Amino acid sequence: MSDNDVTVVHHPLIQHKLTFMRDKSTPTAMFRQLLREISLLLAYEVCRDLEIKMVEIETPLEKISSPKLGGKKLCLVSILRAGNGLLDGMLDLIPSARVGHVGLYRDPKTLQPVEYYMKLPHSINERLCIVVDPMLATGNSAAAAVQKLKDAGSVNLKFVCLMATPEGINVFQKEHPDVPIITASIDRGLNDHGYIMPGLGDAGDRMYGTK
Ligand code: URA
Repeated sequence: MSDNDVTVVHHPLIQHKLTFMRDKSTPTAMFRQLLREISLLLAYEVCRDLEIKMVEIETPLEKISSPKLGGKKLCLVSILRAGNGLLDGMLDLIPSARVGHVGLYRDPKTLQPVEYYMKLPHSINERLCIVVDPMLATGNSAAAAVQKLKDAGSVNLKFVCLMATPEGINVFQKEHPDVPIITASIDRGLNDHGYIMPGLGDAGDRMYGTK
């Protein structure tokens, strides 16, 4: 499905793996492995329209003109810490990508994002930046991270998550209508604590076994 620049990737392999991720009995190591596998599949989708250029090569039999990725190496930007789970699988597929990190935590009272870290590669203005965070919940952290990247000069961005809420999508799109969202699911909504329902719980805690 693709609507208003929100793409939900309904591939059966992704949906199957996501069911195991949602299941509270899935152990930490398996949760991490599943996230890595899904993120590789999401990376495949998000790279669908990458620029290519034709180059001359010689096969063992003849000279041909053949496609290669063009432009500057793209940049994956992880919103810490849960974003790192999506990053690993994407790097499996795009190993030469540059990597940036934005550290934001959610104030538990206001649910607003607070920055504590940011490190980006050079020439961010010339790269496609793929911002990753598994959970687009309130949308505040993702919108703030994308704003920081725009402030740093980024003009070509996409946002990839595992699951989103309608509220989160609205907040994000209001601030960044130019940034497409790619997700594996749009869940029902948020609970009073800002968790996605039915969701999978706290992605960082489940990934790193911190609860
Ligand atoms: N962050 C999470 O890890 N889980 C949610 O459900 C919402 C935000």
